[in-house]
Amino acid sequence: MINYIFKGGQLIILVLAFFYYNHTIFALPNETPYVLLVSWDGCRWDYINRGLTPNLNELIENGLRAERLIPSFPTKTFPNHYTIVTGLYPENHGIIFNSFVDFYNADSFRMKNDNSIKQDKWFKGEAIWTAAKKQGIKSGSVFWVGSEVYNNGPDYALTYDHFMPHKKRVDQLMAWLNLPEEERPHFLTLYFADLDDAGHRFGPNSDEVNTALKDLDKTLGYLINQLKRTNFWKKINLILVTDHGMTEIDPKNEINLEKILTGLEYFLQGDDPIYSIVANQNRIDIIFNRLNENKHGFQLFKKADFPKRFHFSKHPLIGDIIILAEPGYYFSRQNKNYFRGNHGYDNAIIDMHGIFVAYGPQFKSGYRIDEIKNIDIYPLLCEILKIQANEKIDGDLIRVKDFLK
Ligand SMILES: [Zn+2]
Repeated sequence: MINYIFKGGQLIILVLAFFYYNHTIFALPNETPYVLLVSWDGCRWDYINRGLTPNLNELIENGLRAERLIPSFPTKTFPNHYTIVTGLYPENHGIIFNSFVDFYNADSFRMKNDNSIKQDKWFKGEAIWTAAKKQGIKSGSVFWVGSEVYNNGPDYALTYDHFMPHKKRVDQLMAWLNLPEEERPHFLTLYFADLDDAGHRFGPNSDEVNTALKDLDKTLGYLINQLKRTNFWKKINLILVTDHGMTEIDPKNEINLEKILTGLEYFLQGDDPIYSIVANQNRIDIIFNRLNENKHGFQLFKKADFPKRFHFSKHPLIGDIIILAEPGYYFSRQNKNYFRGNHGYDNAIIDMHGIFVAYGPQFKSGYRIDEIKNIDIYPLLCEILKIQANEKIDGDLIRVKDFLK
């Protein structure tokens, strides 16, 4: 036998096989995995069926797609982006709306206020980058909700710049990936608002949304090329998600809330099309009855009766009355513009559903599922990165474990 092996080329093959075996069995599992989480804000689930995204379609063909991503309620940007990185419903992670008031402490959270988004106190739960850091994994964020906090943010995070060119975002990400291993982030985020902007202004069926879709797909192509050039392509687990969908609003479907509630004192906590109403206890029933008499185009609830499936009424800053517009309806307010497209509606409505596409060494290829709840993304990320997930979450790995090889 030995004589035979030492004869001819077999020895070389055997040596090569030995190295290959060692490399696969012993070397690769020790390498920290990479996850790149990309968000196309406001990308409704069916946009990517329009045939305008060849790069994304190639990813789907070779990777995994959930037909629809089910956002948490309310179907707004800040609550859902923070749900994705914590596995918690907004009522549990505290970012209940894009902007809200804490009347107990005379303070407010405003998504467009640099100071408030930096305060750790608003962001409850444990974001994935905090869990990663505890376990020796660095993170880098080209924008994500919660990434700019003073103390518990990713190791590298940019200050939000709505107008930063796409290429610059990708180049920043690549610069982090090219850092020496001990400084290199293995969990990365990348965010684009283009589809949400176009959807609000021109509606989900507009040419402008389609143009934004094509642009984002080109950027995805550029990202893939950069990853291939630097040999990260084979190592990266790329996950493309969104926070919520978008629905068309008919200007005729106006609900004039100020008119309905004329003469009553109240405060609206929330954003169109979902508000909770904060008022003195002795006025709650009067306001509720007035709304009930004028109930058209919206649903009306006492906070205690808000259906459990929304997982929303637990938070103390949510007012005693909840009003939620029906799809296609909007609450008009003096100082607010009408949007051609909007979101924030019931998360069971299909127009509010988003996209979920994944591709990479740890994902099954050619795999299809109907839907994924966005609370389950956090435990999935932890599983890929091999880090201990926060135990007190609303998501569950069991529902998504099947996605992985
Ligand atoms: Zn939006």
